[in-house]
Amino acid sequence: MSIFAKEFLKQARVMTADLRHRNVIRTALSNYEIVRDQRQAAFQSWESARQAAAETKWDAVNHLDKYLEQFAAKLEARGTKVHWASTGAQAGEIILQIVRGKQAHSIIKSKSMTSEEVHLNDVLEKAGLEVVESDLGEFIMQLRHETPYHIVFPSMHLTRGEIKELFQRELGDAPSDDPQELTMVARRALRKKYLTADIGFTGANFAIAETGMISITENEGNARLTAALPKTMVTLIGIEKVLPRLEDLALFLPMLATAGTGQALTCYNTLYGGPRQPGECDGPEEFHVILLDNHRTELLADAEQRDALGCIRCGACLNVCPIFRNVGGQAYGTTYSGPIGSVITPHLRGLQDWKHLSGASSLCGACTEVCPVKIDLHHHLLQNRRNAAKAKPSFFERLAYQIFGVVANRPRLWSIAKKLGRFGQPLQKLVQGSALDPAKAWTQTRDLPPLAKESFKDWWKNRR
Ligand code: SF4
Repeated sequence: MSIFAKEFLKQARVMTADLRHRNVIRTALSNYEIVRDQRQAAFQSWESARQAAAETKWDAVNHLDKYLEQFAAKLEARGTKVHWASTGAQAGEIILQIVRGKQAHSIIKSKSMTSEEVHLNDVLEKAGLEVVESDLGEFIMQLRHETPYHIVFPSMHLTRGEIKELFQRELGDAPSDDPQELTMVARRALRKKYLTADIGFTGANFAIAETGMISITENEGNARLTAALPKTMVTLIGIEKVLPRLEDLALFLPMLATAGTGQALTCYNTLYGGPRQPGECDGPEEFHVILLDNHRTELLADAEQRDALGCIRCGACLNVCPIFRNVGGQAYGTTYSGPIGSVITPHLRGLQDWKHLSGASSLCGACTEVCPVKIDLHHHLLQNRRNAAKAKPSFFERLAYQIFGVVANRPRLWSIAKKLGRFGQPLQKLVQGSALDPAKAWTQTRDLPPLAKESFKDWWKNRR
């Protein structure tokens, strides 16, 4: 078992026993399904929209080479500097070079899970730079020195009382636990940072190949300020974020808002096509876009699971996942948690180290059912289980299945095994949970179902 698997099991055990945490998450998500369903009903046909979105992303992912070149060429034509990073470390190095070239000291960031993936804050802070997260949830998590809990709602596991205490401790300013007042406290702290930041950093929701523009969708306006005030803007994008046409946004923006937060549209939707052009009154003087691979092309090469690159990071699969709702986002120990994280993390960070996440699923299929781009999530989890077992078969598992195969194929042996089982199960009950329990790995978290008093075969025989 990898150290990541051990840590996951440890955290999951703690979190599932934490009723307060489970209650906070249940409360946070209780309204989500109602408003999401209302918004879906506003689509002429949500199912047709899902199909169209899945087909558009499938086209984009299968022609990434063409669309990425088109996207980069259009951006460069308007004066943007486009960089290509194969790994997270390379992306960090490119950003550091830009920062050093500008002799920058401070960076203001808007929300970007891709930057979390490459641990950008650590890289920049180690180089002596001040990095400030401007998204409210991310700002809270930065003050707590923690990674985001959820890809859309970074601090959803915190109550307003906890946030008030945090602001009091870290900012010395928290008049009450009223959400509006707490937001104003954060706003006062962040406004000063915008004005003094040398560089604005953003992620992107979509990269439009046809026009060479990045699309950012948000509710706080912080990404707009991040792009508008500092003189240099840097954007880090995973290569899978490409959409072929500008008109695709007419589907994807409302779809992302509906699935992500249950809104018709998020409050601010902005397109950036390059640095400030002559005659424009705002925007950065210099604009850098970094296109990140970081094992995405390996996932692209996997014909079975390639559709996972279509993910638009709406978080809907996390919200409905019974495992996520019980163990919480941080137990996963990964940037991307929940069902989509369990699917892609083994591709991004190594199958053997992260195969345990494929087991963190009841395979109920709720994730697949809600995914707006129809990613076959729960089947991909099964495929990851299969791939991990194939690549590194367990000696004991193989032996157990071989013995099972021999017994199950011989009626006499099968009948003896059943009798032994019925005789042995009451004895196992006596030692359940102790070191003597042969089924301890199973029974410490679940019940062992009792064997039927009479097998179907015996019942059939007696009946006649
Ligand atoms: S896998 Fe689907 S549901 Fe989950 S975050 Fe991605 S797009 Fe949303």
